[in-house]
Amino acid sequence: MTKKKIILVNLGLRRPLYPLATPPMGILYLSAYLRRELKDLDICVINQRLENYDVEELSKQISKFAPHIICLSTLTTFAYQLPNLVPLLREVCPESWILLGGPHASAVRDNVFNDVDVDVVVPGEGEIALKQIIESYPEKGNLQNIQGIIWKSSDGQIINNPGMLPMIEELDELPFPAYDLIDLSRYWKHQSIAPIVRRKYVSLFSSRGCPYQCMWCHSIFGRKIRMHSAERVVDEIEFFAKKYNVTDFEFLDDNFNFNQRRVIEIAELVHKRGLKIELAFPTAIRGDIATQEVIDAMHSIGTYLCGFSLETGSPRLQKFTCKRLDIDKFLKAVEITAKKNIYITGFCMMGFPTETEEELQQTIDVACKSRFHTASFFTVTPFPGTPLYEWVKENKPEKLEKLNYNNMDFSAMNVNLTDLPDKVLFSYQRKAMKKFYVDPIRIYRLLRSYPKPLLLPYYLPIFIHRATKGLWNSEKPNC
Ligand code: SF4
Repeated sequence: MTKKKIILVNLGLRRPLYPLATPPMGILYLSAYLRRELKDLDICVINQRLENYDVEELSKQISKFAPHIICLSTLTTFAYQLPNLVPLLREVCPESWILLGGPHASAVRDNVFNDVDVDVVVPGEGEIALKQIIESYPEKGNLQNIQGIIWKSSDGQIINNPGMLPMIEELDELPFPAYDLIDLSRYWKHQSIAPIVRRKYVSLFSSRGCPYQCMWCHSIFGRKIRMHSAERVVDEIEFFAKKYNVTDFEFLDDNFNFNQRRVIEIAELVHKRGLKIELAFPTAIRGDIATQEVIDAMHSIGTYLCGFSLETGSPRLQKFTCKRLDIDKFLKAVEITAKKNIYITGFCMMGFPTETEEELQQTIDVACKSRFHTASFFTVTPFPGTPLYEWVKENKPEKLEKLNYNNMDFSAMNVNLTDLPDKVLFSYQRKAMKKFYVDPIRIYRLLRSYPKPLLLPYYLPIFIHRATKGLWNSEKPNC
């Protein structure tokens, strides 16, 4: 056979006032691994979120590449496109295998086949499984030897292969992400995960997996954290700094600071090599283990933005949700970080099952007492594949019946898992926004410390849209 042609597609759409489009990191790491492991491979990447193609256009673009294997990756919020997209792909690429991976596939597993006619579902980490699937092509029967995948045989049977999908144990064995497969400069015109629009940056991951067990969270990469060594992290920074002439790096780890020693080693190496960089950690560092020493080290190598996840100000809910954050230590870390003039984006959630008015107020109080520059008050939403979803299914199944994930905006106020009336929960969310933002000192700090002041005019409309979300909408609760 000539070269096997593989197309990897990240599904997602941009909203007009929320122009987020970030490099599809999972796909870029995956592509780099496949290219190294397999010869005679031709790989193409499409990020629907960047292109904003509708499903017709997307299927046309995919067919132009004439792929042998089409790998679709999606979040649950964009999975509603699959029942339209997959039949179109069957028409334009009748010989191709269609695979589904990413968070939605991990969450719903073989239920995918109820809605769409794909060939293989790959839950969890994809590198090793995808390599084996490509090696199997075009003999479907060979798929039976790949642990943990779910596939449809030629006679239409859905087969759950036994065993667990193997994961990459030594993360340093992975090659650098295949940035050459995308036009990175196109992403610099949009917003990254950090609340900054239009800047030159490179996104990276320095770890996979998370040992915490927050009940709303999936565990695609497992409950054991695997980390790149400090040496490898700094090698990667140095490589991409030269390749793209950038100084700004955005780390998207779930727990960059889990290993305190490693953070300090990274800082030492950056200094030793004389790298002049800027770092953002928008997806949050773990606040209650961020010591003064660690924050000093991060600040010393150019950290200018950190996300901190409080989620709830209620000690009872911290236990109930298994987040188990030490709120006092968390607030202290936020304080230390703010003193370094690092911009802090805080994350809170409102509307946990069993949450009371007093507990909603506790979250508002802690957020307002904190030195966050901005805060998001997200609505608690149970996604399939999470312990929260299972809890709701067991205890409040009627809430799931009405839930509609399609194109859901996480900050929208239309899900209510509490026992409180909708209007009470949503009024607390509005109150949280008002109390947090209608504060001259907060606004002054926010404007003074915004990390890229010249870019503030680009972000301000997005910020106003987000900060006022739900303040005067009349969205009907869907749960
Ligand atoms: S929410 Fe964050 S800290 Fe909690 S389990 Fe998920 S990744 Fe880990």
